Amino acid sequence: GATIELDELTKRYGHSAQPAVDGVSMEIAAGETVILVGPSGCGKSTCLRMINRLIEPTSGRILINGEDVTGIDPVKLRRRIGYAIQSSGLFPHMTVAENIAQVPKMLGWSKSTVRDRVEQMLDLVGLDPREFHGRYPRQLSGGQQQRVGVARALAADPPVLLMDEPFGAVDPITRDHLQDELIRLQHELHKTIVFVTHDFDEAIKLGDRIAVLREQSHIAQFDTPEAILTN
Ligand code: ADP
Ligand code: ADP
Repeated sequence: GATIELDELTKRYGHSAQPAVDGVSMEIAAGETVILVGPSGCGKSTCLRMINRLIEPTSGRILINGEDVTGIDPVKLRRRIGYAIQSSGLFPHMTVAENIAQVPKMLGWSKSTVRDRVEQMLDLVGLDPREFHGRYPRQLSGGQQQRVGVARALAADPPVLLMDEPFGAVDPITRDHLQDELIRLQHELHKTIVFVTHDFDEAIKLGDRIAVLREQSHIAQFDTPEAILTN
């Protein structure tokens, strides 16, 4: 894992009167899983999208392992940050293997290394490589798509994983399985994970610490699940 520090991070979209995210500051330890939980529209996705430079902050800084990444080339971030979102994150015209291989290929990994890595990632998320590597996303169940999304996010072995409601589109039973698997994976891989959800139970189950956000990502509480449950 790597440390992440958000320093007075603010985002104002266009000419909107209110910032979507208003000066959020937070320190996340290496290997820690932090959950951002809060109502729809409170700026959770905006925070994640600033961390991986899909959008530019209006002001403030993001430090990864102490390095300010607000100025660096977003493509350079791909090897440090994996990103998993709801099932729509997979490219429909690419096979499972091509989806998983995309970032490693972009980083210039050799063909054989990429091929081995795809197989390893499918094993890791519990999908038989022989059965699944040639399928297209539409030929997968919602839960299988989410697994591939996680495999894709992990493919380049980034120290940081950003997950935006990754299990939001699956049924409750499958979601429960995927949550258990994420906990198992986290024991194995020790990634620094920032995980967004509006589901408080999910936050309690998965978080080392939970940031409870109000409108504009103002932090109401930032603590362990145990401390939050007793408050
Ligand atoms: P959450 O992930 O907590 O649901 P978002 O980060 O998606 O919240 O949105 C926070 C606020 O920013 C909302 O008011 C939303 O309407 C606004 N917003 C999000 N994306 C854009 C955008 N691309 N342009 C303008 N406003 C946006
Ligand atoms: P492009 O400009 O062609 O989309 P990018 O280098 O921006 O190329 O990224 C290619 C794809 O990689 C994106 O569409 C995105 O889905 C995926 N991706 C992989 N890692 C990340 C990340 N950390 N943040 C955002 N997107 C990522």
